[in-house]
Amino acid sequence: MIQKSSNLFQRAQQVIPGGVNSPVRAFKAVGGNPLFMASAKGPYLFDEDGNQYLDFINSWGPMILGHACETVEKAVQDALGKSFSFGAPTRREVEMAELIVQMVPSLEKVRMVNSGTEATMSAIRVARGFTGKDKIIKFEGCYHGHGDSFLISAGSGAITLGVPDSPGVTKGVAQDTITVPFNNLAAVKVAVEANAGQIAAIILEPVVGNMGLVPPVKGFLQGLRDLCTQQNIVLIFDEVMTGFRLAKGGAQELYNVLPDMTTLGKIIGGGMPVGAYGGKKEIMDCVAPAGPVYQAGTLSGNPIAMAAGFAMLTYLNEHPEVYAYLENLTSKLVEGMQANLAKLNLAYTINRVGSMFSIFFTPDPVTDFESAKQSDLALFGQYFNSMLRQGIYLAPSQFESLFVSIALTDKLADQYIAANLAALQVIHQLA
Ligand SMILES: *Cc1c(COP(=O)(O)O)cnc(C)c1O
Repeated sequence: MIQKSSNLFQRAQQVIPGGVNSPVRAFKAVGGNPLFMASAKGPYLFDEDGNQYLDFINSWGPMILGHACETVEKAVQDALGKSFSFGAPTRREVEMAELIVQMVPSLEKVRMVNSGTEATMSAIRVARGFTGKDKIIKFEGCYHGHGDSFLISAGSGAITLGVPDSPGVTKGVAQDTITVPFNNLAAVKVAVEANAGQIAAIILEPVVGNMGLVPPVKGFLQGLRDLCTQQNIVLIFDEVMTGFRLAKGGAQELYNVLPDMTTLGKIIGGGMPVGAYGGKKEIMDCVAPAGPVYQAGTLSGNPIAMAAGFAMLTYLNEHPEVYAYLENLTSKLVEGMQANLAKLNLAYTINRVGSMFSIFFTPDPVTDFESAKQSDLALFGQYFNSMLRQGIYLAPSQFESLFVSIALTDKLADQYIAANLAALQVIHQLA
């Protein structure tokens, strides 16, 4: 029974574009209508009709401690009653910045904003202001929020000038974004040479979550680091997804490669709308009012949001065993799926880093956007719906990562693995 969700979706479509406030929530890629959620606790979501789902989206990452986590809830309750917003500095913002700088290896100074999109938009402005250069390099299939400069597709070659991916992005903006394939250091070098002295920044998800999960190949991150150092290019790791998830210091800690700037979001707000960008002192001192690059926010560093984020980060900082637990449990999930594939004589690709993973319906390795697109999307849609019927809530798109929280137990992992086997059997018969 999903009658109440269906009714709400009908009403939503009258007054909200597409019925959702973010396109990734629609079920367009998999068929069917989105479910409307009423509450969540630990590993479970409950929809308006009272159905229960084992959640592998976890709000696209932030719910790493499980839903309605008591530590974060209590911090928010304590902050209530002291005003929702002051429009003036607070102690919590100082404590929050100190904690972030302590946890993320490359950060010396950090500015709070209200979303990941704001963080990346601001970071490239600062990189441009700092270097006095205009162009940026991004990678095909990497998502950096919906800022104009990032909604650019590749065109035909590594050094082709960008063309807008979305109506409303001007050619002028698109020209300053150069797009190259992920994991292809040679293509980056060609693009840098072709635009000598014009590249302000190279921005990437150090581990990509937004084309499905795609890890960096050995030497790729270090190669970018070396190139940026040689060419005076600001290296920006967009760790909105990977920050505080792959390790307490993010992918830069896991791979031991330090960017010049880092963007953060998702987990940093504990479920509240929070983002942040930061980096080396000399770069961040370009930001107003310390320097000339303007960036501001009426509600930035909001006390309720900071209370949630600070509680979340403090917990992660004090409980390093979280990452070992997630590593073990997610590797168990993936080994279970691989055993299922072997049992059914199927050869699909599973990528995993820490508590992020994806299954692609292709036998070939997935290392960039081109190879991710080889996945059979019709099979993915069938797989998604079969899992949903078994009460397992996956991201409704092939080109998303799944996220594990510490609320997932060993027993629930077994339940997931069994559901995966049943779903593979269903789609195998259909295939
Ligand atoms: C989610 C995401 C963003 C955008 O963050 P919003 O808070 O949705 O604006 C940017 N970069 C990456 C890597 C993301 O995963």
